[in-house]
Amino acid sequence: MKQFCPECGKEKGPFLKGFCLDCFKKKGDLVSAPKEIDFEHCKKCGKARIRGKWVELTEEGLEGLVKEKIKEKEMKIENRMVSLIREAEGVQAQGLKAEVTAKGSVDGMPLTEKLVVALKPKDVICVNCSRVYGNYYEATIQVRFGGVSLKKTEDAVLKRMASFLQRLHAKDPLAVIVSEKKQRNGFDVLIGSKRAAKLLAVHLAKDSEHDIKRSFSLEGVDKAGKTKKRFTFCVRL
Ligand SMILES: [Zn+2]
Ligand SMILES: [Zn+2]
Repeated sequence: MKQFCPECGKEKGPFLKGFCLDCFKKKGDLVSAPKEIDFEHCKKCGKARIRGKWVELTEEGLEGLVKEKIKEKEMKIENRMVSLIREAEGVQAQGLKAEVTAKGSVDGMPLTEKLVVALKPKDVICVNCSRVYGNYYEATIQVRFGGVSLKKTEDAVLKRMASFLQRLHAKDPLAVIVSEKKQRNGFDVLIGSKRAAKLLAVHLAKDSEHDIKRSFSLEGVDKAGKTKKRFTFCVRL
């Protein structure tokens, strides 16, 4: 008896698992990939959570996310390729799709399968942003002037502080001024990151003849059992 495809009746091979090539492909059992992949996306800073880490939203990151969701079914996959379908310049979180091309073989016959996966961002607020927007801070810098402090001088120092932190911000998202408060002979600035605050205090004091005064207070114990400290750097200018 002649072999024929049970789906379309075609008698011309090649046949795969009893079906003609077209029908076998139409069954869509070559590889599996979800139609949609969710990922967390911070609506404040635009970062995405990829494999548990908050990172800049990049093409590579998203492609990697899709790649690991492509699973073998009937086809032995030799090569997975993922490319983002761009509707606009750059990588925006909304309306992202990725084209998946999987190359491999079924019973030794080379095949290529193409699929489209939608990437769905879930708007959340990342750890760092929730800290910054929740007034979280690790350190205070007390800026004090000898004698009467002038508004103009204070503003200039504040500006210098903000631009110094700006430079650290890419590597340290908590390098921000959380709030500032006027004091006699100067002002206090609350800083998200203690590391950034320390660098900033050293930077501010480099032209001053006074040493930086450091102190810390205990703010209890965190969930991991580590003591939380808040640092204060007093800089006299
Ligand atoms: Zn067929
Ligand atoms: Zn964020």
